[in-house]
Amino acid sequence: MPLVNSKEMFEKAYNGGYAIGAFNCNNMEIVQAITEAAKECNSPVILQVSAGARKYAKPVYLKKMVEAAVEDTNLPIVLHLDHGADFEICKDCIDGGFTSVMIDCSSKPFEENIAITKKVCEYAHAHVPYVTVEAELGTLAGIEDEVKVEHGAESYTRPEDVEEFVRRTGCDSLAIAIGTSHGAYKFKPEQCTRDPETGILLPPPLRFDILEEVSKRLPGFPIVLHGSSSVNQEFVKIINDNGGALKDAVGVPEAQLRQAARLAVCKINIDSDLRLAMTAGIREHMRAHPDHFDPRQYVGDGRAYVKQLVKHKIVDVLGSNDKI
Ligand SMILES: [Zn+2]
Repeated sequence: MPLVNSKEMFEKAYNGGYAIGAFNCNNMEIVQAITEAAKECNSPVILQVSAGARKYAKPVYLKKMVEAAVEDTNLPIVLHLDHGADFEICKDCIDGGFTSVMIDCSSKPFEENIAITKKVCEYAHAHVPYVTVEAELGTLAGIEDEVKVEHGAESYTRPEDVEEFVRRTGCDSLAIAIGTSHGAYKFKPEQCTRDPETGILLPPPLRFDILEEVSKRLPGFPIVLHGSSSVNQEFVKIINDNGGALKDAVGVPEAQLRQAARLAVCKINIDSDLRLAMTAGIREHMRAHPDHFDPRQYVGDGRAYVKQLVKHKIVDVLGSNDKI
């Protein structure tokens, strides 16, 4: 099976009340961990690549690694550009064999966002085979590679904008801002309440009222959530028990993501959680075996934790298991 675009995947996810995991990848072990987990769960999956990943690993390596994963697993896999900043990077990825791209002009004025998104859609949709386009309205706080928005400068998506935006751009899916944010430090401690028993910070709840209003205005249309790592505390603990210093990292509670996946959300982006799992495996290995120096040993342990995490996300959060 060749790489696929996200069209049919999202239709099934919308109607089935689940979401597809969009996992960021930038090296072989992460690609293997994600796709082996998806294979064992019989789940479709999106592998996405940011501008930072393209710089780190070179586009040709990423493309070939994802193609290798398709050959190895025979799964429906989407190769997606995460946060394309302009038409040129989207065009470059479309020409290079990506099956889906995101154009993110959410920080630009509304009319400019529409104009650039429309241009990307026209190019992507004329491509054979059809390339799907994700766009964004509203901005998320936090840091993701080169996308950086200060806390306090984020803005929720305005539901009254979405119909006009989708109609005029022709985009295939829409990322909205309902309170998720990028990175492992999603919320300032003062935005959160501290659980008296565990001491863990609990973030403010997602704005489900906005999601419901958007989906009422766009019936059947796939919605995307960025910045949706949950900062699983088991991995934070392993990191901190083995020499790390992650203090008050806060994510989006998984129960809220599960709820969003039952509604119009068809794609949930997860990046920081993979980084935490990889780091946990490597730190734990390094501490337990100070004499080891073969990267296959410690990176292999990181890969095992990433795989374990992705299986958990597919089954307990996304609900995309056994959907092939
Ligand atoms: Zn994002």
